[in-house]
Amino acid sequence: MNKKRGLLIVISGPSGVGKDTLVKEYLKHNDAVLSVSATSRKIRGKEKDGVDYYFLTKEEFEEKIKNNEFLEYAVYNDCYYGTPRSEIEDKLNSGKDVFLVIEVQGAFQIKEKIKDSILIFLLPPSLDVLEERLRNRASDSEEMIQNRLKIAIKEIKESTKFDYIITNNDVNNAIEKIKLILDSEREKR
Ligand code: 5GP
Repeated sequence: MNKKRGLLIVISGPSGVGKDTLVKEYLKHNDAVLSVSATSRKIRGKEKDGVDYYFLTKEEFEEKIKNNEFLEYAVYNDCYYGTPRSEIEDKLNSGKDVFLVIEVQGAFQIKEKIKDSILIFLLPPSLDVLEERLRNRASDSEEMIQNRLKIAIKEIKESTKFDYIITNNDVNNAIEKIKLILDSEREKR
């Protein structure tokens, strides 16, 4: 019998809500992989090329768009972000669950193309907490932080279109909820 196809799980939510931390923590104890995105934004802090993102110039990114190399892509805060096709299909077919950690426009593009993808929106406990988390990163300018907050409010309004919404009060608690969602999704297939 063929191995069952893995689940494609899209984790979305405002920048600073803790999407990356949550998924990295989940991956420490569960068998799944994280898709590495490409971006045209500048490298930040301790980020590594090929690990956190594939860092490309705007021109390189546009060339890949032309060549249809992205499953989805979006412009966020004046930079491109996209999911390379090469990151997804083989892994799903080999039975691995694949996580995408992306913003909402990209999440909806994925749902259009892959109907059985699972869209999960991560909400911050409050906007004040979100602002504090963005400031604690201390790597962005005030203008960037304000832009990210403005985008966050728009994104939160879109959250009702997701399959599931989880409030990220506590990482372990949010992970337990994700596990329950994925168990029940597996039962359905
Ligand atoms: P950051 O600059 O904080 O790393 O990311 C900004 C936003 O882009 C975050 O919401 C992040 O989840 C999202 N993002 C990261 N990779 C992708 C991607 O491949 N596609 C899309 N659409 N968004 C992404």
